[in-house]
Amino acid sequence: GMPALPPPTLAPRRKTRQIKVGKVLVGGDAPVSVQSMTTTKTYEVDTTLQQIAELTAAGCDIVRVACPHQEDADALAEIVQHSQIPVIADIHFQPRYVFAAIDAGCAAVRVNPGNIRKFDDQVKEIAAAAKDRGTSIRIGVNAGSLDPRLLKKYGKATPEALVESAVWEASLFEEHDFHDFKISVKHNDPVVMVKAYELLSERGDWPLHLGVTEAGPAFQGTIKSSVAFGALLSKGIGDTIRVSLSAPPVEEVKVGLQILQSLNLRERKLEIVSCPSCGRAQVDVYTLAEQVTAGLEGMEVPLRVAVMGCVVNGPGEAREADLGVASGNGKGQIFVKGEVIKTVPESAIVETLIEEAMRIAEEMGEA
Ligand code: SF4
Repeated sequence: GMPALPPPTLAPRRKTRQIKVGKVLVGGDAPVSVQSMTTTKTYEVDTTLQQIAELTAAGCDIVRVACPHQEDADALAEIVQHSQIPVIADIHFQPRYVFAAIDAGCAAVRVNPGNIRKFDDQVKEIAAAAKDRGTSIRIGVNAGSLDPRLLKKYGKATPEALVESAVWEASLFEEHDFHDFKISVKHNDPVVMVKAYELLSERGDWPLHLGVTEAGPAFQGTIKSSVAFGALLSKGIGDTIRVSLSAPPVEEVKVGLQILQSLNLRERKLEIVSCPSCGRAQVDVYTLAEQVTAGLEGMEVPLRVAVMGCVVNGPGEAREADLGVASGNGKGQIFVKGEVIKTVPESAIVETLIEEAMRIAEEMGEA
């Protein structure tokens, strides 16, 4: 038969220069990658590697580790050696750790020019060392640590101020013929952040790392990041993303992947199409949806599972999905690929859906 067309996206990706972050390509036609950052003390190598392994299992493409002290810098080589995904060292204040991270074999180094005094004088050496080792750089401009000169000029961290800082720092690297860098211009306000990235994307073809900084606890941070990334990615802006949450980093990865899947920038994996429930519901939809979601967590095949509270839209949605249930009268009609395969009592709905999902997944080649 005809090969399936890829699902539509809202806009073509904007053309950016492609760089390498270790084995992961960022920019150009590379898929938008998902990043997170460890919360462990970096010098505690075992716990850091344990967290990196959890992030890797959750689908994280690139991990960043903080490097505030010499003992952290000293731990980088071992972390890089054992991590399955590229490691970026996050450096503020101390240029000498930038060199340490490059020496340690980090895939990339994040520098925050606003926090590195006399940074400009060091760019030449940083560029030379990075080029030598094939290390890429992230120029990470952040509203909270904007260059004092620009803060004075603009009064606060406006989109224009963030972009002027980023373009200036980029030019310093470009003067030394170094181009393997991406840029972020983070702000905690999604509106300022979106405007800053829009402006920045007009100024050059640098690959862009999206982030809403200090986005907050999981609920607020998820929404802020989704709205901001959605606004940008729907215009094709953004090459790699990091959702910042005051929550375990695995949650950041899950949210990031879900954002990309929602925009068809990643293959959708498990998708639960559940109704919000209403006065017509003849079954506890929330509990049912939660139990099905929990039972199918980690499923690695694209599967649409409909969980519907009654027969109004139930059969229709359940038919559109790979698998579904439409409830009514203390029973659930189980649909597979549009056909009712059985009717089970309410108490057996969850286990039947999970069973059928496993069977379908196996048929698809993975379980
Ligand atoms: Fe209400 Fe039924 Fe629609 Fe669910 S499927 S929201 S219960 S009408």
